[in-house]
Amino acid sequence: MHDARLPLRRRHSALRTCITLFAPYGFRATYHHLTLSAAIPRRLEADPDALVRAVEELYEARVLWLARAEEYAAQRRAEKQAGRRAVPNPRPWWLRSRWDGPDRVWHQDPFRHPSLRLSEYVRRQNAILDGAEPPGCPACGDEGLRVLSSTGHGWIELCRGCAWVLAPCPCGQRHRFVPETLFTWKGIWQRAHMSDDGMPNPHWPAG
Ligand SMILES: [Zn+2]
Ligand SMILES: [Zn+2]
Repeated sequence: MHDARLPLRRRHSALRTCITLFAPYGFRATYHHLTLSAAIPRRLEADPDALVRAVEELYEARVLWLARAEEYAAQRRAEKQAGRRAVPNPRPWWLRSRWDGPDRVWHQDPFRHPSLRLSEYVRRQNAILDGAEPPGCPACGDEGLRVLSSTGHGWIELCRGCAWVLAPCPCGQRHRFVPETLFTWKGIWQRAHMSDDGMPNPHWPAG
């Protein structure tokens, strides 16, 4: 990834491999987040260093997560030895189900996710796991009004900032979230939403 001698396309695929190993916002939303935070231009040649910035942000967050995950694993081993086999509730944030978790919208609409730097998100999630109750949305800290999303027979309450599910549909069923923007993964991967100056493409999604 850091090897500047490799072709940019190869380094870009290496970034994908890194994201498959660790993606706090889910695979596609984490990539989308990094395109914005690291300002990865649509044409990679316009700023080859952007890939380095992206992988560094990811790495910084991964180190924090690994430390907490190792702590958790040690704690679970001790609990099992003491005869407590049931998984504690709440599950650690990195074991959330992508279908059931309050972050599920990020998997269905990769444009929706917190704008926090990944390490900030990991710090926040670790703190919540340790019993902290920070104000606002648990994911992004937004304290604004909730957004209602209709399921046809009820409402889901979402965070305005990041679409975290603050209150699920009262029927108790899971509902598929319909993305606001029509997208293809190919379009996201090729950064149709970005310009060559590393800023969001002002003509996207129309052009
Ligand atoms: Zn939020
Ligand atoms: Zn429902």
